[in-house]
Amino acid sequence: MTEEMTEFDALVVGAGLWGCVVARELAEAGNRVLVLEARSLPGGNARSQIDPKTGIECHCYGAHIFHTSDERVWAYANRFISFTDYRHRVLTEHDGKVYFMPLGLALINAFYGTNLKPADVPGFIAGEVAKAGLTGEPRNLEEQAISLIGRPLYEAFIKGYTQKQWNTDPKDLPSFIIRRLPVRANYDIGYFNDPHQGVPREGYFTLFANLLDHPAITVRYNTDYLAQREAFPAELPVFYSGPLDAYFNYRYGALPWRGLRFEWETKPVRDWQGCTVMNYADASVPYTRIHEFKHFHPEREAVYQSEKTIICREFPADWKLGDIPYYPVNTAASAELLAKYQADAAACPNVIFGGRLGEYRYYDMDKVIARALDQVHAYLAQA
Ligand code: UDP
Repeated sequence: MTEEMTEFDALVVGAGLWGCVVARELAEAGNRVLVLEARSLPGGNARSQIDPKTGIECHCYGAHIFHTSDERVWAYANRFISFTDYRHRVLTEHDGKVYFMPLGLALINAFYGTNLKPADVPGFIAGEVAKAGLTGEPRNLEEQAISLIGRPLYEAFIKGYTQKQWNTDPKDLPSFIIRRLPVRANYDIGYFNDPHQGVPREGYFTLFANLLDHPAITVRYNTDYLAQREAFPAELPVFYSGPLDAYFNYRYGALPWRGLRFEWETKPVRDWQGCTVMNYADASVPYTRIHEFKHFHPEREAVYQSEKTIICREFPADWKLGDIPYYPVNTAASAELLAKYQADAAACPNVIFGGRLGEYRYYDMDKVIARALDQVHAYLAQA
């Protein structure tokens, strides 16, 4: 292996979004790149595939919607794939009724039975927040949510969902998680605020294939880098996007993740729930949401109109080593553990750690691309 490795200038571990972007940038800068991927296909948890029976593109590890305010990232992604003008909307069921999920006028008026106008919202919310009696900066997810929307809305739409999703008391979770959700004083029911949104017209699997399609990139699938790392020359630069703790043989213990379990079902109807994602806010329902993937692509008319659809129930799950990691569980204890691994990572001069697993971060796809570009360009500038 070592002799053969002299053919390469850099090693990329993991062919998820981060690894694909890094490999591409390295290759375009004139490097010969070897990508090692443990799975049999690229794309990590953002991967999609077409179901052969129905023709429906399914997101294998849960729905992924591309959205960004970063012009550089948007231009970069568009070099490799074009995006539809899909705008994500999320509905949520609470206590047997369905609401539009962005915390905005549609939800507030439906929930309270009011007819508030945009100008009424700040005063109304301030009144609700005052009733909750919170003072000072929010210290956790619960306080952050209550300070944004008041206690009744928090208890209806956030508390149960968050408790299920994280199996952690919202008082022990960081507030940034909830800042992902827009709060609006109008009837805009789009889930994201970013000016650029969509899903890849030809599918996520094509995006990853296109990123890797370069003569200087060699990809080996079903290959576990850590099991054979000794075989690679020590001076070969490594761009590592496997789990950070795995790289160090879990020497301080495993960083905690939240898992997911998906239940897939094909239904003999054209449209089962009428939208891409329906959230289930109540703790009494064991799943957090149901995806109906054909709604991502109404422009694929034959598939969209066919009398078959695929739905997928998403159940949050406890995670143990060996399970697929989905969400890092950011608590005070995991922050302490992470800091130890980060210190060790900083002492590895030839290794650049990145991506959701390599950095142990709750990442949106656009942020992964931005970070990959920054990291690889910093490397190229000094190489
Ligand atoms: N959330 C919630 N109710 C909802 C949707 C989201 O309480 O109906 C909270 C929950 O804590 C969740 C976070 O907002 O973890 C982020 O949700 P989002 O759907 O944006 O994240 P994703 O799981 O898609 O990354």
